[in-house]
Amino acid sequence: MHLDRLLTRAANDILETIGEQRRAQVYWDPKLKSTAGTAWGLEVTLNPKLARVPMMIERIIRHELAHIISTLEHGEAWKDACRRLGIPGEETHHNIPELRIKVKRKYRYVCPRCGMTYDRVVKPTKQLACGRCCLQHNGGKYSRKFHLRLTRAAPKKGI
Ligand SMILES: [Zn+2]
Ligand SMILES: [Zn+2]
Repeated sequence: MHLDRLLTRAANDILETIGEQRRAQVYWDPKLKSTAGTAWGLEVTLNPKLARVPMMIERIIRHELAHIISTLEHGEAWKDACRRLGIPGEETHHNIPELRIKVKRKYRYVCPRCGMTYDRVVKPTKQLACGRCCLQHNGGKYSRKFHLRLTRAAPKKGI
């Protein structure tokens, strides 16, 4: 489990934007199996497999921040927090196939800006952007400025 400073800053920018005093920390934890993320206290923990679906990173962070500023349950307080965080109608559980399948990742992409690596099984048909940088520098929206670069075939182990 390791702290992601960039995502922590992005998460706290989000909290500040909605006038929240609380500050969170964002971690990656390879022990998470098919769960996308968890929240506990002031900690958001993300599944490293989210690197397979970069643009889900922000969604999951907002979902978990909603728990941090409300409750760990998916009740009315949490739904209200989701609205404040800009994700009204958020699902209580994300069904992300990429988190469940065990895959051989053949292609490794790297973000030229922050250095995060993303492994893919098949070569994507469209250009991928770094979810981490899009969140930090572009309000979570896709930006061609953060296009990933193919570096090499990915190793079989690791993310
Ligand atoms: Zn939840
Ligand atoms: Zn990046």
